[in-house]
Amino acid sequence: MKIYNTLTRRKEEFVPLEPGKVKMYVCGPTVYNLIHIGNARPMIVFDTVRRYFEYKGYDVNYVSNFTDVDDKIINKAIEEGTDADTISKRYIEECKKDMKALNVKPATKNPLATEEICGMLDMIQTLIEKGYAYAAADGTVYFRVKKFKDYGKLSHKNLEDLQSGFREIKVTGEEGKEDPNDFVLWKPKKEGEPYWESPWCEGRPGWHIECSVMAKHYLGEEIDIHAGGEDLIFPHHENEIAQSEAANGKPFARYWMHNAFLNIDNRKMSKSLGNFFTVREICEKYDPQVLRFFMLSAHYRSPLNFSAELMEASKNGLDRILTGMEKLRETEAKVSQDSLSLAEEENKAKGEALAAKYEAAMEDDFNTADAISAVFELIKLANSTVTEESSKAYVSWLKEELERLCEVLGIETEKKKEVLDAEIERMIEERQAARKAKNFALADEIRGRLLEMGIILEDTREGVKWKRA
Ligand code: AMP
Ligand code: ZN
Repeated sequence: MKIYNTLTRRKEEFVPLEPGKVKMYVCGPTVYNLIHIGNARPMIVFDTVRRYFEYKGYDVNYVSNFTDVDDKIINKAIEEGTDADTISKRYIEECKKDMKALNVKPATKNPLATEEICGMLDMIQTLIEKGYAYAAADGTVYFRVKKFKDYGKLSHKNLEDLQSGFREIKVTGEEGKEDPNDFVLWKPKKEGEPYWESPWCEGRPGWHIECSVMAKHYLGEEIDIHAGGEDLIFPHHENEIAQSEAANGKPFARYWMHNAFLNIDNRKMSKSLGNFFTVREICEKYDPQVLRFFMLSAHYRSPLNFSAELMEASKNGLDRILTGMEKLRETEAKVSQDSLSLAEEENKAKGEALAAKYEAAMEDDFNTADAISAVFELIKLANSTVTEESSKAYVSWLKEELERLCEVLGIETEKKKEVLDAEIERMIEERQAARKAKNFALADEIRGRLLEMGIILEDTREGVKWKRA
């Protein structure tokens, strides 16, 4: 299995630290708003990476954090006249709902920054003791970038370049910095902000330290894969490497994976530019599976431009798969022959070659675009070879193979039999009419049919009410 490693800028063979196990950390969102579909890209992409490892039999420990203390959360709390905790808790719940809709598997652990403060204080203390960090007069603790010789190895920047890019004059509040490249590990509280006691001042952590600490706490000092959007390469991931490797004295992550941006009109979709759609908005227009399918229709390292046309194309593509699967299921229920005909033996071999093509695509740095093409070809094979004369052995094999491959992509192949409200209303009317005509047997039968569809009826004084079970 080959993975493109941002650290070496090469595709490398994946060799786990421990045989059969993958320790994977993915930077999660800052929770102050509903997530937008740009944020959903890393969630879907790395969930698919995880699913593929699991398909190959690996035991994956998947950790992804929620940043629940941050300026944006505090500002939102002030705006709403509430506290930061209320805001972050609310949006963690909302984010989890979106992830569930997008069929993103729950992480092994979703640590929260506010619950890992002790670990952060420990790591900062170690960095100070080793000379990699210092406390300024106001209690701010900075990482001493010059002391960490490998600084820049991930983003392939060197300190001289960084230096010339930096402003000469230090900004207000950063007078205590020894060097403009140094970054904050701990900072003093401001009026009305959440804060914690520390040896240096009452305050709160800088952003970067939480991921170093959480990865160590839940996965260990050395991990297999660290991932996130490409905007995190610098400074966030560069700083994580500096903190972790300086504190632990070991290489941090073996493989660094970064997804390219989801763009709109060829610009990065972001909260700050205001050019975003929330996952919620898109899921009102499309089945969430269409959004997932759309995200996987491009390689994760290629920029992807969001447009209504591409979403329509994804909807049609997904429909083709789901319709093909439905036909396979219907035929499977009708046929019985359990040995393959000669022609079916040949077609099965073609199918196996397509499944191998799918795996080869996934093994080549998770090329989901090519993997999806192989799925389309398998559907085409099914559509052109399966008839009511087919053997059950052949039909079931195709169906199960497709189910397995779609499962890795996180695509549910059974068309959701969504009961439309209009249909329910119609059946209720039919039942009322039956009751009026004193045909109680029919009325009961309709009630039973509705119950099977997950609809519960209640006869009240205001008429018949219904709810989903
Ligand atoms: P944030 O809440 O901004 O820290 O983002 C959470 C995750 O979403 C990070 O991994 C970001 O890199 C990623 N992300 C944010 N915007 C985009 C985008 N437009 N396309 C792809 N990934 C993004
Ligand atoms: Zn992070």
